Amino acid sequence: MRRLVIALIATLALPLAMAVPAHAGGLDDAFAKVLVKKVKGANVKKHLQALQAIADANGGTRAIGTPGYDASAAYVEGKLRRAGYKVTRQPINFPESWSENTPPVLTLTAPTSKTYTPGTDFVTFEPSPSGDVTAQVQGVDLTLPPTPSPSSTSGCEESDFAGFVAGRIALIQRGTCPFVNKVMNAARAGASGLIVFNEGQPGRTDPYPLNIGEWRAGIPMVFASFAVGNELANTPGATVRLKVDANLVLGTSDNVIAETRFGDPRNVVMVGGHLDSVTAGPGINDNGSGSAAILEIAEEMALVPVKNKVRFAFWAGEEIGLLGSDQYVASLSEAQRDRIRVYLNFDMIASPNYAYKLYDGDDSDGVGSPAGPPGSAQIEKQFEAFYGSRSLPTVGTDFDGRSDYGPFIAVGIPSGGIFTGAEGIKTPEEAAMFGGTAGVAYDECYHQACDTIANINDTALDVDADAIADSVARFAFNLRGIPARTAPQAAAATLSAS
Ligand SMILES: [Zn+2]
Repeated sequence: MRRLVIALIATLALPLAMAVPAHAGGLDDAFAKVLVKKVKGANVKKHLQALQAIADANGGTRAIGTPGYDASAAYVEGKLRRAGYKVTRQPINFPESWSENTPPVLTLTAPTSKTYTPGTDFVTFEPSPSGDVTAQVQGVDLTLPPTPSPSSTSGCEESDFAGFVAGRIALIQRGTCPFVNKVMNAARAGASGLIVFNEGQPGRTDPYPLNIGEWRAGIPMVFASFAVGNELANTPGATVRLKVDANLVLGTSDNVIAETRFGDPRNVVMVGGHLDSVTAGPGINDNGSGSAAILEIAEEMALVPVKNKVRFAFWAGEEIGLLGSDQYVASLSEAQRDRIRVYLNFDMIASPNYAYKLYDGDDSDGVGSPAGPPGSAQIEKQFEAFYGSRSLPTVGTDFDGRSDYGPFIAVGIPSGGIFTGAEGIKTPEEAAMFGGTAGVAYDECYHQACDTIANINDTALDVDADAIADSVARFAFNLRGIPARTAPQAAAATLSAS
């Protein structure tokens, strides 16, 4: 690490003095080349071995709320401190335990009476708060009858609630975005309760127990069958009683955050990945791999006099609803958000049957969610250029809200990153591009006990760590093409206050 600084300063002394523009041959390019050389797959692997040992010593898991997570956070914090970083821990809340005191109630009270059966017709969304409301049901942007393949965006956009009458119970269809987005949008629109029903395609008809990790909506919420949802949607003036009687205990955990001593704090390059695993396993690919690569990069660049501040985040509670990143973004003022020029996310970068997937910042794939905030396309292009320089192909992956970039793009921060695939199935085209096996999941051990150190593809780990190093290094010196943001909301607030 020390040698990196000397080498870099030697490399950069002349350009620094001459303040050359940042481009090929500029500071960004020079630093990228040095950092990529310094960052080693073997070092990343050592961090993964340490995380595996932590899981082994703590019941096989590193999930939030377990000693395995706490030991992982201590490990990362220790390494960052030794590298010279000032490390902060941001406390976050999570539902530590949740249980139902009595079964939930869902009854149609008008225009006719009907009692739905808990367990078959509907289940309580974990961790729903308690509540007992009787109110008219209002459907929110429903797609009925459902389309042959999933398409409903019910409740995904705030605009879906434009005509929603506060105090009513929101009736929302599954589809497109995470449940948690629907729940929070409904709460913001003033819903007194929430019924989400399954979308209606074959295999998507029944309710099932699900922990959505979100309790802050503060309203009772249940997951119903398609049949129940469809019936309520087709009953004009339907009024229901919705009751949840549950015990929710909140615990605290920590995000681990460190930033470079050098660099302009008004221009922050943020690099994050989740440190927690699911309870079922040690989470070495998901997401030891992203965490370990970020940690190695942070160590190798600790003392480099970067132009823009680089902030590293190791999130808690991603696996139960993006809790760490969500509470982090929620804690920032508009001005603090604006200073984060880019957010780079790394969640699963060494899947055994990998593909090099880049978050589709420009929506060139035209699937799922729209393009990321302005600047996201440039992030994607920069990653593409790195793989291209090694004659490696890439494919796009949709911003589907399944990882910690979600809260960042939701507030307009351009984002990007790499993903090597989870439970999805590798296509024959991808097998031709990347090798591996078509018709098999990218990671057959996704969210299972077998996501161990044996579940890591060393080639992908090495290449992706280099790709991350390249991108972080370039943005650390050059944010050209990334639009500056100033808080329109904050400006409006000031105007209206004056
Ligand atoms: Zn993950």
